[in-house]
Amino acid sequence: MNGMSDGHAQPDPRAAATKVVEVLQEAGHTAYFAGGCVRDVLRGAEPKDYDVATDAPPEVVAQLFRKTRAVGQAFGVMLVRLMRCEVEVATFRTEWGYEDGRRPDHVEFSDAEHDAQRRDFTINGLFYDPLADRVIDYVGGQADLERKVIRAIGAPDERFGEDYLRMLRAVRFAARLGFAIDDATAAAIGRHADKLDRISRERVGMEVEMMLTHRSRAKAVGLLGRLRLDGPVLSEPATDAPTPVLEALAAEADYATALAAWVIDRHHPAGGDLYMLKAKQLADRWQRTLVLSNGVSDGVCAALRELPTVLRWGELGVARRKRLLARPDWARLEHLAEAYTGVRGGFDFAAMQNDATGLFEQGVAPEPLISGDDLVAAGYLPGPAFKRVLAEVYDAQLEGRVADRAEALSLMRQWMER
Ligand code: ATP
Ligand code: MG
Repeated sequence: MNGMSDGHAQPDPRAAATKVVEVLQEAGHTAYFAGGCVRDVLRGAEPKDYDVATDAPPEVVAQLFRKTRAVGQAFGVMLVRLMRCEVEVATFRTEWGYEDGRRPDHVEFSDAEHDAQRRDFTINGLFYDPLADRVIDYVGGQADLERKVIRAIGAPDERFGEDYLRMLRAVRFAARLGFAIDDATAAAIGRHADKLDRISRERVGMEVEMMLTHRSRAKAVGLLGRLRLDGPVLSEPATDAPTPVLEALAAEADYATALAAWVIDRHHPAGGDLYMLKAKQLADRWQRTLVLSNGVSDGVCAALRELPTVLRWGELGVARRKRLLARPDWARLEHLAEAYTGVRGGFDFAAMQNDATGLFEQGVAPEPLISGDDLVAAGYLPGPAFKRVLAEVYDAQLEGRVADRAEALSLMRQWMER
């Protein structure tokens, strides 16, 4: 079957990238798959995307393909659109002079070998020729893939000095792939850890988000602690304390939940009172230091604030419990409660889940039987009592004390006449 003419076939990024390599090679250029996709294919994983590297300069790439767009002009990166996919095509380059420890001062187009040497870790410095089915390895990446090691290409001190963010990338790849960080590379990170504050908070925040949203998050955070990177990452004093709540968190928990678990591990010692945790203050501080969106930061704050209430489940009335279950962030609270009580005990999580299932069956967020309009229609003047009375009547509805509109209206009048 010809994938290009069949408009209904699923987009196939690997086939598209292979086509890009073929067109470039047929025009007389060197072109390979490069970076992360080679690493992932070699270890039998599905790459996120397929990047191509070539000796063809960007103008030539633009001429060879119909739909192209320059993305990293200074770096010679082009996006090629074909077969309903976007393939990133980068011209082989050499970089040097990282004066500010994050962006190269100079970029020069070069060959595959130099392009491999500017990359961060050996497992990320591999090329693959999909037409010849051949790996091109200038940096010993294949051996390190086999040994499961993250090793800086070249002299680690120099390489981290060029871009301190690479220290966090090392941790992220080690955690995600389940690899060890090579001794010399780890020692260099130890020497440079405190310089992470020279990197923009946005870039640090993005790395932390990638670490915490992967199921290997506890390993990543453990490595941050061991390498003394946690302090600079969070702008807090470093601590190598264990992170049991984060470890116990369900794999699918979201970013805000993972951050809340990490806050608890760092700032809420066992035996302390959860109500004493300064949720707002901590969420605000982490928002600034990790450049969290308002949604994530509010989510962290709300999860930390509501958790102690969830943990009093057995004492809560039906309406309180249904209101908790109706919260849009209930899954977050449930994940956090499960991890927290799994570690610190004293709570029957399975019983809570059973109860929740029963309440969900009854309906935890029914349409309110009455509204403010009913109060106005009954001749009351809008005022602060409205909100309170409507909440009282809705509680009665959630608890099954009023079954229909007539009963709700009658209860409403009783409350207004108090
Ligand atoms: P992922 O699967 O997370 O996307 P990746 O290896 O593709 O992993 P990217 O951040 O997409 O990582 O970068 C693509 C490639 O560019 C890397 O494999 C690496 O060769 C190179 N690279 C990226 N960031 C840096 C950096 N800060 N310093 C040196 N090389 C880098
Ligand atoms: Mg990538």
